[in-house]
Amino acid sequence: MFKDIPVDVSPMHEGERIRAANMFVELAGPKSMGAELIQVDEDIENGDLKIIGPDLSEMTEGEIYPFGVYVKIQGDKLEKELEGVIERRIHELSNYVKGFMHLNQRDQIWCRVSKEAFEAGFKLLDYAKALSILLQEDFPLIEKITVTILTDETDVASFLETTKEAYDYRDSRARELSDEDVDVFYGCTMCQSFAPSHVCIVTPDRTALCGAINWFDCRAAAKMDPEGAIFEVEKGDVIDATTGEYSNVNAVVADKSQGVTERIFLHSLFDYPHTSCGCFEAVAFYIPELDGIGIVSRDFGGETPLGIPFSTMAGQCSGGKQVEGFVGLSLEYMRSPKFLQADGAYERIVWMPKEVKESLIEFIPGELYDKIPTEEEAGSIKDIRRFLRENEHPIRERLKQSRELAVTEEEPVSDTSEFEDGYEVEDGGTPVAYVPQMTVPGSSNGVKIIFKNAKIYAEKVIIKKNGK
Ligand code: SF4
Ligand SMILES: [Zn+2]
Repeated sequence: MFKDIPVDVSPMHEGERIRAANMFVELAGPKSMGAELIQVDEDIENGDLKIIGPDLSEMTEGEIYPFGVYVKIQGDKLEKELEGVIERRIHELSNYVKGFMHLNQRDQIWCRVSKEAFEAGFKLLDYAKALSILLQEDFPLIEKITVTILTDETDVASFLETTKEAYDYRDSRARELSDEDVDVFYGCTMCQSFAPSHVCIVTPDRTALCGAINWFDCRAAAKMDPEGAIFEVEKGDVIDATTGEYSNVNAVVADKSQGVTERIFLHSLFDYPHTSCGCFEAVAFYIPELDGIGIVSRDFGGETPLGIPFSTMAGQCSGGKQVEGFVGLSLEYMRSPKFLQADGAYERIVWMPKEVKESLIEFIPGELYDKIPTEEEAGSIKDIRRFLRENEHPIRERLKQSRELAVTEEEPVSDTSEFEDGYEVEDGGTPVAYVPQMTVPGSSNGVKIIFKNAKIYAEKVIIKKNGK
């Protein structure tokens, strides 16, 4: 079936990583642009494969090129609602091709072709062919398929407009429903190939953290293949509607994660947050010094106020781990009325990249919009603190209340001091630092002690301005 393709095509190549030193070219990714889209269409010519723009033989080794993958499918029983789920399979199936690496989804894709594959005569047309065969094998409902690969900058730019419209259409549909309106949620275990205990729970209010699959997509996929990676999850009893905890969701997550995760809160990053595989569009992270939450997206290239970039933070909380204080999420979830509702929603958000903030202008409560700093106003926790004070962010009230609770009558602290000169808190009950993983060198016998999800408690916290 793959006999005309000069490289091997098999699931065994899925874990292959192509490092910069071994790559012939990079396609799409953070330094260029690209996207993938699958659409149900009519009257298509089965097997029509096209490359518009230069193929690999016309590319220069070591360069980065724009990249679009546009797949059209047709079939009597193919519903439009299946587009998102079939499209999500492009990631795994592309990685079956030896010498081709595919990361992420939608307009975040990032691909590389290895030098070996190029030297073996591999072309993008071969990739298109492999993808068309693999998709048809995986989804027998696809009777006809066409694949168009775009590598010219102008074409890819206009393709991005098309994809944006299609993604927006899918995303906005899911906004019509909320968690209370349905009896079933859906689970997805597609990412267990690299995060073996990870289970996504997809609800009307919580689009999957990869951003590519919503509740409607899952409903169509589960109907098409009830035994597949996407399946129905009865909600069971509501344990807590605010945190988003449901008895049967817990039971299913425990079962599908082989007992690794026993409870999840759908709408909180504290106690039992949803696990994170690795393809999340953004990470929400707790900032203990401010008792607030920051958001960083995959596209953000700089450092977060914690002093680490997205990639380092993603490494700490991915792989299917449940890490209190960190949760991977989709950008669409930030448009949900239930977005981190148990933690205070946008009233608790104290930092996010400008690009993300601007994309949420209709969803962040108007009175808060100007009170949330971005990388332009704050690059460190100190900057954020100053910005929050100057803009009267409601988190100050929260901090003040927790301080009032903690300070004894004998030790009054003036009203505004927390942001001026620092303050002291005596409270043995609140963690003051949270570390997903911390390694402490052992004594002389070469032992290494690793604390996972360590919380540091202090009897007394003294916060001082530098130099005081
Ligand atoms: S991130 Fe979740 S919903 Fe998306 S493919 Fe992976 S397991 Fe499925
Ligand atoms: Zn994933």
